[in-house]
Amino acid sequence: MDRYRVKPGSRVDLSQQDPNDKSAFPGGKREGRQQLLELNQRLEELQELLYAEHKQKVLIVLQAMDTGGKDGTIRHVFEGVNPQGVRVASFKKPTPEELDHDFLWRVYKQVPARGEIVIFNRSHYEDVLVVRVHGLAPKDLWSKRYDHINDFERILADQGTTILKFFLHIDIHEQKERLQARLDEPKKHWKFNPQDLEERKLWPKYIAAYEDAISKTSTDWAPWYVVPANRKWYRNLVVGTVIVETLQALNMRYPEPGFDPTAIHIE
Ligand code: ATP
Ligand code: MG
Repeated sequence: MDRYRVKPGSRVDLSQQDPNDKSAFPGGKREGRQQLLELNQRLEELQELLYAEHKQKVLIVLQAMDTGGKDGTIRHVFEGVNPQGVRVASFKKPTPEELDHDFLWRVYKQVPARGEIVIFNRSHYEDVLVVRVHGLAPKDLWSKRYDHINDFERILADQGTTILKFFLHIDIHEQKERLQARLDEPKKHWKFNPQDLEERKLWPKYIAAYEDAISKTSTDWAPWYVVPANRKWYRNLVVGTVIVETLQALNMRYPEPGFDPTAIHIE
């Protein structure tokens, strides 16, 4: 999955990243479904191990343009995983109380504890994305946040948090189709937000903001992955594989029992 990992210090040009790429899993959709089932099982086992070992903390950040598939990714990649050990934190428009604090205040409260996986559905990155695009804070404020974010993530990493960040990369044509589908299918109407059409007009500005954010904050301790996301099955496989491979590399162990199980006889 290294091909999608953004090397620290490199400059991302999203126009050079193909959202239709499927080079890592050339087998196609059908085979992909099977591969995802296997990933789901491995993730289920690894999550249980993580919970039992109670040492590691895992933070997964999901960012995407509207309709980019954050919700679908969570649903499909974590299918079958015990909900007790996984938590989703969604970051919406900040409340007045949140706005009275610094931008990381609400984020810090949601970071994973030992044994926990937390998925950020949107994140502190909104504070250098929507905030920048809409001028919700002055430039001299948001432009310092890239460093603040790197330092914040460094603190988490130094205290034993494994951080993975995914940008689900769709193109503007794919967004049109997905928005249209939300209009065409009555069961999807609830997902349609007329405001998304206003945001869509700002596409190039969002892309520029994403390129800056990803380039400035892909670090050894909190790497970004730019995931080709026009094809949902492929997106799920890439995200699932990165997570599974990362968890495997943690070399987790079930805790040693504080008793000798062979010496115990249950009457
Ligand atoms: P869906 O993709 O299913 O619509 P969503 O994540 O877009 O889900 P919404 O309630 O539609 O959820 O949108 C949340 C909104 O909150 C987004 O437009 C996002 O940009 C905005 N938001 C999140 N964080 C901030 C922030 N720090 N400042 C301003 N706006 C924010
Ligand atoms: Mg939305």
